[in-house]
Amino acid sequence: MKGNQPARFEGQDHTLWSFTDHVLVECSNCGQSASVYRSDGAHPAGEVTEYRLECTHCGALKAASYAQDMLTSDPAMWQGFRLWLQTRCKGRVFWALNAQHLDYIRSYIVADLRPREKKTAPDPKVRQVLKPQSHGYHLTSRLPRWMVLKTSRQHVLRAIALLRVRHDKTKLRTSK
Ligand SMILES: [Zn+2]
Repeated sequence: MKGNQPARFEGQDHTLWSFTDHVLVECSNCGQSASVYRSDGAHPAGEVTEYRLECTHCGALKAASYAQDMLTSDPAMWQGFRLWLQTRCKGRVFWALNAQHLDYIRSYIVADLRPREKKTAPDPKVRQVLKPQSHGYHLTSRLPRWMVLKTSRQHVLRAIALLRVRHDKTKLRTSK
């Protein structure tokens, strides 16, 4: 951080849900990076959310079943697939859903000023996919305490940089 201007964190209204349109996972077929896409209201009768895996490496197309508790497991899973962007950090699993999510966490970690989070009405969709008691309605309210401690900052930034490299390598491979 240079100069006297502290970095201000502005993205406090994001929910984890807002990053789940497209999540990077490990293909269960070939072990390369693949994408899990979310589609809402797939059934006319109800508010059903469906997830499907698409792998550009081996062509796998799979329907994923809705799974509620995946982000608290070790290794971190999403809808039955291992998250692509994960690493160990301070003896724990540090994970991100995709590049946007990674950038978002980074902007939070480097910010010196963090506005207090507003308590707003929960988005019903968030309830559907994430347990409110373990994930919170706002993403930042659920970044684990160890991650936001000043003493963790350098470790977390290193983990973020590592996952950014992993992500960019993936991108180079898939764009060929
Ligand atoms: Zn594959």
